[in-house]
Amino acid sequence: MPPNSTSASSPTTVINTINGLEDLATSTLKTIRAHALPATPHIFQRLFRHFSAPQADLPLNELLALLAAQDVTTADALAADAEVVQEGALALRDEAGRLVTALAGTEAVLARYGAVLDGCASTLGPKNSESLLVQSVALLAQETARMSAQNNLLVGELRASTARVGKLRQSLAVVRQEASVDGLTGIGNRRAFDARLRRQLGQAKRNEAAPFCLVLLDVDHFKRFNDTHGHRTGDRVLRLVAQMLTANVKGKDFVARYGGEEFAILLGDVDEETAAAIARQICSRLAAKKIVKRETGEEIGAITLSGGVSLVRVNDTQSSLVERADRALYEAKHEGRNRVHVAR
Ligand code: GH3
Ligand code: MG
Ligand code: MG
Repeated sequence: MPPNSTSASSPTTVINTINGLEDLATSTLKTIRAHALPATPHIFQRLFRHFSAPQADLPLNELLALLAAQDVTTADALAADAEVVQEGALALRDEAGRLVTALAGTEAVLARYGAVLDGCASTLGPKNSESLLVQSVALLAQETARMSAQNNLLVGELRASTARVGKLRQSLAVVRQEASVDGLTGIGNRRAFDARLRRQLGQAKRNEAAPFCLVLLDVDHFKRFNDTHGHRTGDRVLRLVAQMLTANVKGKDFVARYGGEEFAILLGDVDEETAAAIARQICSRLAAKKIVKRETGEEIGAITLSGGVSLVRVNDTQSSLVERADRALYEAKHEGRNRVHVAR
């Protein structure tokens, strides 16, 4: 708030105060218009405070950048979530509606405040009586208090809105997580794999990340396994394979169920031979596991995998990389299974 707005003691002080107020309000509104900022009470008040004591504040250009950035961040965050599910988009639309209503209330008070300032500016002059000046100061004080109360209301509304959007973001994150996780094994699903591969390919092309390898692993003779031991035991084996993959990669690597009894691993920052060594280690650790059929206690023979490894190349697309790894996997199957081949 401008200093001394209600402590005028002589006509000259009152006139100076009113002129000062008018100048501050004019500078504030001009700046809001010139920089196309939203005319919210927060921005109005912040700039008003700046012009009241510029020397005690940030430089104007920094303050403007800050106010503009705050607005953009909110818009981006809302837009990102709105893409995820329609339900989220509808909830966000309701939220935006509430904020528009809150802002409209503020706009009306802001317009009234502007009109009072305009009125004072056009009626007051050096020849006015002291009582008129005192009245004007009282009016301005009253309108400023109203503006400030409205501002508090809006701040409350924005806080509540931030909390609701926060909850919405959490539930959207849950939906997003469920949409990318394989229900049986709990690792990434095909959709998550595709998204991750797309992102890593983009990074590799822009040289933002070191080269990476794709490993495809397929359970050997799994149809026969299901036929012999039952589908439920087959499901347990798939969960075990997923656990083995997760346990044998590092945090930045990514494992997914590519489909059926086929799994994919994206290994960052390794060459083909290292990737193949990791894949072989997974195969031998899995083969060493003793699997017991729950229903009968019967011990089941080793589960083996076949694998294909491919290092990303400069002109790779998602399908060219996957096809190369798939061909190497096919060769491994063809040569007798229970082995890992590197694509050449
Ligand atoms: P290969 O060594 O050539 O890969 O032989 P395979 O029998 O593993 O391959 P094939 O493609 O003939 O059969 C795959 C089997 O995987 C058939 C299908 O029933 C089984 N399968 C796919 N998804 C699941 C699943 O979610 N649970 C279980 N239990 N089995 C599954
Ligand atoms: Mg198979
Ligand atoms: Mg298969």
